[in-house]
Amino acid sequence: MAGRPRVGVLALQGDVREHAALLGELNVDVLSVRNERELSIIDGLVIPGGESSVIDKLSRLFGVAEPLSAAIRAGLPVLGTCAGLIMLARELSDGISGQRTFGGLDVTVQRNAFGSQTESFETDLDVPVLGSTPVHAVFIRAPIVTRAAADVTVLSQLDDRRIVAVEQGNVMGLSFHPEMSGERRFHERFLERVRTRLG
Ligand code: GLN
Repeated sequence: MAGRPRVGVLALQGDVREHAALLGELNVDVLSVRNERELSIIDGLVIPGGESSVIDKLSRLFGVAEPLSAAIRAGLPVLGTCAGLIMLARELSDGISGQRTFGGLDVTVQRNAFGSQTESFETDLDVPVLGSTPVHAVFIRAPIVTRAAADVTVLSQLDDRRIVAVEQGNVMGLSFHPEMSGERRFHERFLERVRTRLG
């Protein structure tokens, strides 16, 4: 149908299907993005969770890393979850040797920040911009934001104040996986950006 936003999911590695399924319920056309041509026809992009070092390598191999960085700088709305947040960070700590990111968020992100003792956990988060109903968040070998520039909006913090959700302009990054707990509000917020930009 003409006029429906075309939303891409970066489909190099990770939980692509979960994001595609959720987006498919939100009245948009969903496309897999693996190369520059596919990137050029979308109105917004979701970067899934998975393994950021693999997403980094494959994105460079397929020639999509540079054009994607440029598209983000040019205002493409992007939502990244977990490894997707890592890929959006300007600076990375505890990356593998030579690991790069696309950028988009002026933050430092620490990979695997909860250590080997805590592979995964679930908790309820307050996210004031989404209203008073808490977000049930699933964290899997999750990163955290250890530095955020002054113009980055912190959307949510754990009880110990560690930052797990941020937004800067057209870009939103989450440490956890809303697509795994049926949480739609972050995707809806991202789609508001997409529709606003389409005009
Ligand atoms: N630890 C992973 C990484 O470094 C991220 C985990 C996830 O996306 N669930 O990319």
